[in-house]
Amino acid sequence: MIIVLKRGTDRKTIDEFSGALKRTYNVDVNEWQGVNETVLGLIGDTTTVDIGTIKAQDIVYSVKRVQEPYKKANRKFHPEDTVITLSNGAKIGGGNLTLIAGPCSVESESQVTEIAKAVKESGATVLRGGAFKPRTSPYSFQGLKEEGLSLLFKARQETGLPIVTEIMSEADIDLFSDVDIIQVGARNMQNFTLLKKLGKLDKPILLKRGLCATIEEWLMSAEYIMAEGNQQVILCERGIRTYEKYTRNTLDLSAIPIVKSLSHLPVIVDPSHATGHSWLVEPLAMASVAAGADGLIIEVHNDPPHALCDGAQSLTPEEFDKVAKKVTNIKSAL
Ligand code: PEP
Ligand code: MN
Repeated sequence: MIIVLKRGTDRKTIDEFSGALKRTYNVDVNEWQGVNETVLGLIGDTTTVDIGTIKAQDIVYSVKRVQEPYKKANRKFHPEDTVITLSNGAKIGGGNLTLIAGPCSVESESQVTEIAKAVKESGATVLRGGAFKPRTSPYSFQGLKEEGLSLLFKARQETGLPIVTEIMSEADIDLFSDVDIIQVGARNMQNFTLLKKLGKLDKPILLKRGLCATIEEWLMSAEYIMAEGNQQVILCERGIRTYEKYTRNTLDLSAIPIVKSLSHLPVIVDPSHATGHSWLVEPLAMASVAAGADGLIIEVHNDPPHALCDGAQSLTPEEFDKVAKKVTNIKSAL
């Protein structure tokens, strides 16, 4: 961290300030005297230094971080890829390509089981399905909740596929004790109370990028979970809001190599929510794998026109099969 002091700050004040920085943050402080300004360089772990507090000091002209504010999620401190192993042996991260597929929402036993069997046949190793649904309108289908979770457990029993499903509130955490991967949706990426609770679990967390979140904010949310002890975080790029209206969101493909260089955590991509159109899922799934994604999470429905949620972006099982083949070929070509 670099701190530029205001012109004319006297020697005694500089020494007092440097001393306070050393004591408070347990860092070394280097000082450079320019012609007009004094610059202080903080050496050491500055993750706990609050930039706002430094800026608020009368003698400070400007402050700049040169180190990322996250530590546990940072590749600098953990150079090897994090690899998460699931109950069926599937691995997420570390050069594996993981295909997660299933309906937006669990609607019935036959729906979710039929889809689960089909996507497994096509190479998916994890089943997705929403039981608690975050909908923009309170009048839209809100999910089958507890019943949806039981139907997912049944589908897992039938197929052996581990399940990923979204939690919306910390109040529901006990209901998720038998879920393989808990999803934190885009709308809850900065629900810090929820993140801290999930950080106490010994269970993988799929953390979606917030609708308007920067990469750094997203990694800081991962840090919230990891700082509490849970290191099993999977990041999911699902598009961010831009001024483009053609697609539901804008898939930030550049986030894939950027996050993979900044962090050791696996990065998977959701081309369904990123685009909102089923015909765009295939090209963006291929592009994501080519850009280095560790996996994909894709919405698949056995009857998209009658889906209770997100039918327009859902692939049929046959379409998913085609996409699975193409992305697997791309992965092998890399
Ligand atoms: C979902 O995966 O069903 C979902 C609601 O996604 P997101 O949080 O990315 O909008
Ligand atoms: Mn959906």
